Formats: sequence, C-alpha cells, structure tokens
Amino acid sequence: MRPDVLFPLFADLTTLPGVGPKNVKLFEKVTGSRIRDLLFLAPTAFIDRSPRASVQGASEGSVVTVAVDIGAHHASPRGSNRPYRIAVSDAEIDFHLIFFHAQADYLRRILPSGQRRVISGKVEHFDGVVQMPHPDHVVPVEEADSIPLVEPVYPLTAGLSLRVLGRTLRAALDTAIDLPEWQDVAFVQREKLPSWKAAIEALHAPNSPKDLEPAAPARRRLAYDELLSHQLALALARASMKRGKGAPTTGDGRLRKRVLDHLPYKPTGAQQRSIGEIEADMGDGLRMMRLLQGDVGSGKTLVALMAMLTAVEAGGQAALMAPTEILARQHADGLRDLAEAAGVTLEIVTGRDKGRAREEKLERLASGEVDILVGTHALFQKDIGFRDLRLAVVDEQHRFGVTQRMALADKGASTDVLVMTATPIPRTLALVSYGDMDVSILDEKPPGRQPIETRLVAIDRIDEVIDGISRRLDAGARCYWVCPLVEESEVVDLAAAEERYRALAAVLGPERVALVHGRMSPTEKDEAMARFVEGRAQLLIATTVIEVGVNVPEATLMVIERAERFGLAQLHQLRGRVGRGDKASHCLLLYGGPLSEQGRARLQIMRESDDGFRLAEEDLRLRGAGDVLGVKQSGLPDFMIADLESQGDLMKIAQDDARLILNQDPQLESERGQALRVLLYLMERDEAIKFLAAG
Ligand code: ADP
Ligand code: MG
Repeated sequence: MRPDVLFPLFADLTTLPGVGPKNVKLFEKVTGSRIRDLLFLAPTAFIDRSPRASVQGASEGSVVTVAVDIGAHHASPRGSNRPYRIAVSDAEIDFHLIFFHAQADYLRRILPSGQRRVISGKVEHFDGVVQMPHPDHVVPVEEADSIPLVEPVYPLTAGLSLRVLGRTLRAALDTAIDLPEWQDVAFVQREKLPSWKAAIEALHAPNSPKDLEPAAPARRRLAYDELLSHQLALALARASMKRGKGAPTTGDGRLRKRVLDHLPYKPTGAQQRSIGEIEADMGDGLRMMRLLQGDVGSGKTLVALMAMLTAVEAGGQAALMAPTEILARQHADGLRDLAEAAGVTLEIVTGRDKGRAREEKLERLASGEVDILVGTHALFQKDIGFRDLRLAVVDEQHRFGVTQRMALADKGASTDVLVMTATPIPRTLALVSYGDMDVSILDEKPPGRQPIETRLVAIDRIDEVIDGISRRLDAGARCYWVCPLVEESEVVDLAAAEERYRALAAVLGPERVALVHGRMSPTEKDEAMARFVEGRAQLLIATTVIEVGVNVPEATLMVIERAERFGLAQLHQLRGRVGRGDKASHCLLLYGGPLSEQGRARLQIMRESDDGFRLAEEDLRLRGAGDVLGVKQSGLPDFMIADLESQGDLMKIAQDDARLILNQDPQLESERGQALRVLLYLMERDEAIKFLAAG
C-alpha cells in the first residue's frame, strides 16, 4: 500500500489550476499525468532574463529583457500578410515589436502608446533592423520583478507552451512536501547533497549552465535516489531468490578431473577463477544466482560443464538451456565428447522430439539416468520432471529479463542458476540489468587465437567482393554472408535476404550456397545448417540468427552487409563466428554510403579492436544505453534523472549500498528502512516490496 505521505505527489495533474482533461494529455506525452511525473521532469536549458539597458548588440535569437518607451502602433494593412508592428525605443535604439494575427484591441491595452513597459523576448534581425516578435513577457515597470530572472526550459510537445508548463510546475512545486530521509545521513553530508525536497526545488531553479549538468548536487541527489531504488529492488529480488536452498552441492572432483585430463589444453586463469567462484556458490547454503560473462570464444562452455559436473558428482542433475534449437544442438554436440570422457549421460530434448521417443527420454530424466539435459528455454517452461535438478545453466542472449529469471528460480528452490551471456556488457549496464546477480567475468582469451583482419568496403564494390568469394570457394573456403535485419520490417528484410541468396546462388552455383533465417521451420534451418557445417554448402547466407553461437571452425570469411546498421557489440558477435580455427580469417564490413562521421568512426573502431568490452563501452558512449542493449529486449529501466553514461560511478555505489542495507535490515523495518519503502513507492519500484511480504 502506498504510504500516505506520497498521496499528494501521486495526485493527478488535473487537480492543479489550469490543467483539464484535454491538456493533461499533452503533459502525459512529455512526462506523465501525475504531479510526481512533472516534478521529475528535468529542465534541459534555461533562459537568462536578467534585465539589460538595450537590445543593441544582442545576438540573433537571444532573449533580452529591457524597458522600452512605446511609440506608434502600425496595424497590418487589410488583406496583407504583413504583421502588426509597434515602434518602441530602449535606452539606446529604436526597434519594433512584431505580432502576427494580432488583436489590435488587446495590444493597445497591454502596450499603450506613450507609456513605458518592461518586455522580455527573443531578438531577431530583419533586413538589418532589430525586431522582437511576440515578447514572452510584457509588464508595467513597477512589476518588472514578476519576470523570472532565470526561466528553466523543458522538453515540450505541440500545444503545450513553456508558459503553461512553467505555471503548472510552480503549482506542483507547492505540493512537494518534505519526505523522510532515506539516504544514509553520513553519505548525504559527505557528498554535500540536498534533501529530496530541496533537490526537487533546485532542479527547477537552475541559475547557471552548471546546474544543468549531471554533476550538479540536486541532480546527483535525485539520480542517486533513482539508482538506489533500482538497486534496492534488484537486491530484494536477489535476496528472495537466494534464500536457503537446503543441501549445498559439493562434488568430489572426480568427474571434473577426468575432463581436465582429457582436454588438450589447460583452463585459462579467468576460467579457473570463474569455476572457483561457481563452486563456492554451489557449495554454500544459499541458492546461486550468477552471471558468467565472457566474450565470444572466451571458453564459457568449459566453465559451464565444470559446474554441471559438480552437480552430478553431488548425486544431482544439471540442465543447460539455449535460446534457439540450433544453439541447443550445438551445445549438445560440443559437450557430448567431454561428457563421454567424464562418463556421464547427456541428452538433448527439443520441440521436435515427439511421441514415444520423447516420453522415453523424459522417463530416463525422471529416473535420474540422464545426468545432463540440454534443451531450449521454451522446453523448460513446460513441465519437465527431473529426479534432482541441482543446477540450471541458461545460455541467454539478452532474451532473459529479471522477471524471467525469477520465474525460473521459482521452479525449484534448491536449483542453483548460472546465466551465461556472450555479449560483453559495459559494467554500468551490467549493474542495471543484472544487479540482482553475482558476476563472473572471462576477461582472458584462450591462447593461440588467430587475429581476424577486418576491412571496410563500400557496398558499390559488391561485385569485387563476390569475385573474391568465388575464388575463395574454389580454394575450398567456407564463408558467412550476413544480411541486415531491421526489426520494424521483418518481412521486407527477409525478402532482401532471399533476393541476396538468389543473386549469390546464381553467380556461385546453388549447390554451394545455403540460406537460414528466423522464419524457417526448425527442420529447414537444421538442414541448411547441416549442409554448411558438413561443408556441402560453402557459403551460408543468414540473417542475424547466426549471431547466437554458431560454431564452424572451418569458416574463415565473414561478410556483413550494411554493417552501419548494426551495433558494435552485435558486429563483434557476428565477427566472432570466424577465427575459430587455426587459419587466418577475414571480416568485410560492407557499408552503404555516404557514412556520417560518427558512422565511419564506429566502423573504424571495429577494425582496430577485438575487445568486446571495449566495443561495448564505445557503443554505449556513441549510441547511448537504450541502443546498446535494445531497450525492449533488455528491460532496461527508463531513468528520469540518472544518466548512465556519466553516472556509472553512482550505480556501483548504489549496488553496494543496497546490499548493505538489506544485510542490516532485511525487512526494511528500521526508521531508515521505512523511509526506503517510501522511496521504492515514489520511484515506482514497489513491486519489489512483495518480496518483503513473502519473507
Ligand atoms: P564461448 O562459448 O565462450 O564463445 P567456447 O566455450 O565455445 O567459447 O570456446 C571456444 C573454443 O575455445 C572452443 O573450441 C574450446 O574448445 C576452446 N577453449 C576453451 N577453453 C580453452 C582453453 N583454456 N585453452 C584453449 N582453448 C580453449
Ligand atoms: Mg559457446
């Protein structure tokens, strides 16, 4: 239940003077329909209205406040579209006030000839003469004080003027009451942050450009409130997921040893560290919620296998779920050999297993005969019975949000969860999306990788590129060709991919070319993939479906069409499909010109760097958070004040703070705990409160 103190803030804007059912829609477009929404709308600029002696020398478009003597009115001649003009003079020069569609009566009343008025508005130059169209303020000299010295500017929408927004905002500010302090008092003092109410007031009263920057104390305070509420909600979810799982899972290491002995290589330091972190989590009494983050080719599979073998050594079972059927199959294929070396039974179940064969597999799973089960996410949403599922490994590609993780965690309270992601996520974003999890990072690549040479090629030169591919195919090479897929119009994109396929098949020979895309049936997809994996087809034309983990070590060339449409992290993922074997590999980024300067800079970075984390950071810097993860897919919250690009430092502090708070006051019962509940409601993260009730 929302605390009473917040009722005034959650009241509808229509309760304020001047806001009715009609213009509230405009407010909704800009921010929201409640008082709270308007209070959190941050100004983007401000207008300096401090009075000056003259408009003389004011630059085009600048705002000037000045006292003028009013001269003659010149009505627009009937039938002409010339504006109504009023001659005025300030301390230094004469100029004109200009009105289109003027109401002469009204203007004569507010600007009577022979009198003096203070006006404030934008200065323009027309034919070398100064004029001021439609001044924002016109007041008698005695009332000059009523013009705000500094007026904040907000994002607006058609039909909503700054004047109306400003007036409504001032009324809204009158309802802003003092709220109990939810921040740590020592922190607030050390950082010299204002109280919530003072921060809201200061947010709307900027005095200098500095006040508009994220580092301004008021903004920092409000941003931190936002980040803390977000991290606190995640920490509450985490705490409820981690709650006791019963028996810890510890193995004796015998199966893992067999695999390590069987491997032709040694795990990297990063793999060893991650394996250790996972073992420690599995071996304690709390459920594991861990993210394993590692660039393409960093060796996540081995780490996952070690965790799964730990579960089996302890007498339990493990499951690995992949986002697509192709991937599930590849995981199974990649693991089978090692599972065999360990002497454990691995099985794969997909949507295509039907009837008796499927039942038989599920029976073996229920009896515990199958140790490790591989399948797709969809599979696990249905009821699959394990004898003793100890560990679920989720191979996700940003398709799994917090809510889905929670649903998964509901499955069995004793199941540890390991989420693997191949997309390097900048640290700050990882904290936003995965703040509820612990994180292991594979930041070290296995030795002996061939670097991939990347080149930018204008799409006009596509014929040369195709010639080059033709020669390579003759020499036995295997290549990928990725067609762009823009989500808004999947149909059109597929048509483009199919056309590209027909064109390339015509030149290179249909028997050497295969096509996969997201709309194919699983059987068609597998058939096409199999042709490529086995080398019967040498060129695989694909939409981005291959992004997720296809592993064909023989492939040495990646062509990405319209590379400028992809994010850097995505290009990196795609490029990671080559360079997996021992031969030198190449990546051609075909771009449609002309590229913007930023577009070119982005693609250049692809040439220079093979570090997924660096590319993801660059993406974040160049494109902003929403674009990097794709807001829809990531479930990334829309922060009102916090700025992820520049306030990453605060995000980390907020995460630590949130975890500390829950350590000391798991039920948020203390005085500060109660205030934090108010914060959660204010920031609309109150869905997290239910975890408290459930506890
Ligand atoms: P990821 O899933 O992180 O993209 P994989 O687990 O598929 O990476 O590993 C990529 C390749 O690297 C595989 O062929 C794997 O056998 C190999 N590999 C994994 N760990 C090591 C290691 N420590 N040393 C050498 N090669 C390794
Ligand atoms: Mg993999």
